[in-house]
Amino acid sequence: MHDTSQAGAAADGSVALMWFRQDLRLADNLAIRAAAAGRVLAVYVLDDAAAGPRTMGGAHRWWLRGSLESLAADLKRAGAELVLRQGSAAKIIADLVKSHHVTAVHAGQMLEPWGRAQEAAVAKALPQGVALQLHRTATLYEPGVIRTKTGGTYGIYTPFARAARAMQPPEAPVPAPKRLHGVAAKSDSLASWNLRPAKPDWAAGFRETWHVGEAAAHARLKHFMAEALDRYPEGRNIPGEDLTSMLSPHLHWGELSPAQVWHAAEAAGHGEALRVFLSELLWHEFSANVLWNNPAIGEESQRADFRKLRWRSDPKDLRAWQQGRTGVPIVDAGMRQLWHIGWMHNRVRMITGSFLVKHLLVSWVEGERWFWDTLVDGDHAVNAQSWQWVAGTGVDSQPFFRVFNPVTQSAKFDAEGAYIRRWVPEVAKLPARWIHAPWTAPAEVLAKAGVRLGKTYPEPIVALEEGRDRALEAFRAMRGA
Ligand SMILES: Cc1cc2nc3c(=O)[nH]c(=O)nc-3n(C[C@H](O)[C@H](O)[C@H](O)COP(=O)(O)OP(=O)(O)OC[C@H]3O[C@@H](n4cnc5c(N)ncnc54)[C@H](O)[C@@H]3O)c2cc1C
Repeated sequence: MHDTSQAGAAADGSVALMWFRQDLRLADNLAIRAAAAGRVLAVYVLDDAAAGPRTMGGAHRWWLRGSLESLAADLKRAGAELVLRQGSAAKIIADLVKSHHVTAVHAGQMLEPWGRAQEAAVAKALPQGVALQLHRTATLYEPGVIRTKTGGTYGIYTPFARAARAMQPPEAPVPAPKRLHGVAAKSDSLASWNLRPAKPDWAAGFRETWHVGEAAAHARLKHFMAEALDRYPEGRNIPGEDLTSMLSPHLHWGELSPAQVWHAAEAAGHGEALRVFLSELLWHEFSANVLWNNPAIGEESQRADFRKLRWRSDPKDLRAWQQGRTGVPIVDAGMRQLWHIGWMHNRVRMITGSFLVKHLLVSWVEGERWFWDTLVDGDHAVNAQSWQWVAGTGVDSQPFFRVFNPVTQSAKFDAEGAYIRRWVPEVAKLPARWIHAPWTAPAEVLAKAGVRLGKTYPEPIVALEEGRDRALEAFRAMRGA
């Protein structure tokens, strides 16, 4: 937002407090760059109360632990300590400002309503003469600046993306400060926060899948640009292969900035592959803007008529969906991938989301909450916007009456069943022809593959045609109401 240069570093001995939040990186971080002009007190506050019911779930905490560890090591190499504190950010930061004679506080701006409220509380708690300076760290452009010719906001992606592409290209990333003049303060130990699970330890799949932290994010970025960007236009729809960037958690936690990803893609790619990849980054930017302009997007359907839709409340079906026991293999594969590694392929996010909302007629809010709790990349802007898109309740969304058929989707995008075989071993021995809908397979095929429906693998919890009709009926009733 208000960047200052690095001129005059530490000449007057003034102390700036760098409040790290969801910008856990040193490179292309305008906040640390501004703070580095003097001596730096680098702080992360675990403020669980600030987010209320949106407080971090287990997957978020698992990631945060690794990211803070990595940030602390990077800061140390540059000459500063990372001070860890737990409690109210407003109180902790105001106290540190007073005790360490801090003259300015720098932070990355958050888009989430609770982050914005926290910023207001911190600004209010600071002593007279010390300002909270917020910097853009999570988006390509200042949130809210991409507007229609008449100054309105965009609710639809396509014109938003067109307007974004007509802007100046995103600024070139700035390097990490070479040297920091750190100021020490009393700190909690990271281990004492118990951010990772012990008993039960459910994180084996997380450890196998992810390398956390700024250096690991850059390694992943480099790998994707070299190995998969060229195939992205088709590859991004194939969940059984590793052809998307898997950068989303690094972006959510700010280990990478969107501008770094944008410029890396421009340097490595060209043609259709580059165009499609940058369009996805613009979806990220679009979601950020939608949240900025509609802070309640995670709480209620954007289209007011959908607030009257009679969703079903069915804890048993919801639980079967969450646990990947719906009896529809592509849905179960996705939900189990999510549980095991804290991430799900985008195509399958759409399929599982649609199945919950349409075939089970359970509100998107339930799905949004579950994803929030279980994703390592759980990002309020993208998650809420995407759920409303899938559900048909958003301003930009597919029509409610367009119901994804999970079997057709599965046969199209996981033709050989590689993805299903990986995550649903109970049906792994079925031939590709039957793996997408085992309930349609002849008895001898099932027997040969060791599948006993209702015993080794569930019968579908809803007949797809019936689920679809029920959803359309609810939609018609809502329209008539
Ligand atoms: C129901 C639902 C919920 C979702 N929840 C989240 C979420 O909480 N956090 C999240 O980051 N993404 C979410 N997405 C969007 C998308 O699924 C993920 O961003 C993507 O799967 C991440 O994998 P990737 O990094 O390999 O993506 P890539 O295909 O490599 O794309 C590169 C980057 O572009 C952005 N991007 C890609 N697709 C989308 C999209 N459809 N919308 C917005 N940005 C996109 C992401 O930042 C991503 O990291 C959700 C999608 C759906 C359908």
